[in-house]
Order: sequence, then structure tokens, then C-alpha cells
Amino acid sequence: MERKKILLVEDEVKLARFVELELQYEGYDVTVCHDGREGMNQIMDNLFDMILLDLMLPGLTGIEICRRVRKFSQVPIIMLTAKDEIMDKVAGLDSGADDYLTKPFAIEELLARMRVAFKHCEGTTVKKSLLQVQDLTIDTEKRMVTVDGKAVELTKKEYELLSYLVQNKNIVLTREQILNEVWGYSYIGETNVVDVYIRYLRSKIDEAFGNKYIHTIRGVGYYVKEE
Ligand code: CA
Repeated sequence: MERKKILLVEDEVKLARFVELELQYEGYDVTVCHDGREGMNQIMDNLFDMILLDLMLPGLTGIEICRRVRKFSQVPIIMLTAKDEIMDKVAGLDSGADDYLTKPFAIEELLARMRVAFKHCEGTTVKKSLLQVQDLTIDTEKRMVTVDGKAVELTKKEYELLSYLVQNKNIVLTREQILNEVWGYSYIGETNVVDVYIRYLRSKIDEAFGNKYIHTIRGVGYYVKEE
């Protein structure tokens, strides 16, 4: 059987290392990140069978990551939280986490919760991995874009930009929102990088297929329109 791939996003390095070793011992294939932004990048670039998310993280909080992931994937997520406050638990579950665990926890407890979460998702094989707008489809698991069944070759940034627009179809997104989401908070530069990439997408999608997907609201931003 193929080893299950686990992503652990936890900024407490010693705890992360401990959990990593224990999970490896149990036969899991573990990827570790100590920063929320880095964790989100891992999720965009790889397929994981489960995500273990610390709540308080530098870069991007566990709750925010969870919300974003739920827009395109039903991968099981277990939140790890240092705080025992009920509000945090509610927020964690509201954001779409399957379960939460309060630190410090016994590793046996985590392993048991993981087994439960895996069992839970076994029955639900239908994964929400397809984003669609008109005849454009994004398979977020294969990271493949097709228009009317024909594959479109996109660079990583073009793909991320298009996915973000389609996830939020019919919602106007400002350049700042797009920059923050697709390029990351640490991006320093002109917001017209967004315009440049929108132009790339238009030539590869709108112009290539003779349809208008990406709309401009002058002075505000862009959106993808569902007819
Ligand atoms: Ca933390």
C-alpha cells in the first residue's frame, strides 16, 4: 500500500520534529513546514492525504489556511491548538477542519484522531477538485486547465492567478487582493504585475478560444464571469 502523505504545519520546531519522527515511525510520509505561507505553497504544489495544522502560525494562520483549502479540497484537516479556548475550537471547526487537538497532546491521541479522520473520508470519495466557469475547467488535483476539453498550458503563476479568479467567480478582486493572494504578502513591487499576468491569461484563454472569461472593472480590478 502506498504511504499516506501528511503535511504538518507547526512553527514549534521541537514539537514539529517530534511529531514528524513519530508519524514516520508509523509509516506515514511526512512533510513539515514552520510557516503558514510556506504551508499554503506546499498545499498548492502537492497532493496530501491529510493536513495537520497549528492554529497560530507566522505568515498565515491555521484557520486562514483551512478556509482557503476548503475552497478546492476536502482533504482531512486536524487543527493543533495551544489554546484551550472554546472560541478557537469553534473558529477552527467553522473554517472546515475535521477535528482539533489541544496541545500538549499524547502522540497516541493524535494517531487515533488521524485514523478516525481517514475513516471518515473513506466513504466520501467524491472530491471537490473541479473548478468550473462556462466551458473552462480546472482540475485542482492534477493542476490541469482545459477549455472545452482542450488542455491549456499555463505557468505556475498563471495557474494560481486563474484558480484564484475562478474560485471567486463573479466577485471583483482588486489588484491588491490578487497580489496578496497569488504573489504573497512579502511581494515587493508594482501592482501592475497583476495586469501583465492578466494579459498573459487573456491571450492563452480568452483570445485563444474566442470567449471572454476575464473581465475588467476599470480602476478596481478583475473578475471571471459565469454566464
Ligand atoms: Ca504556533
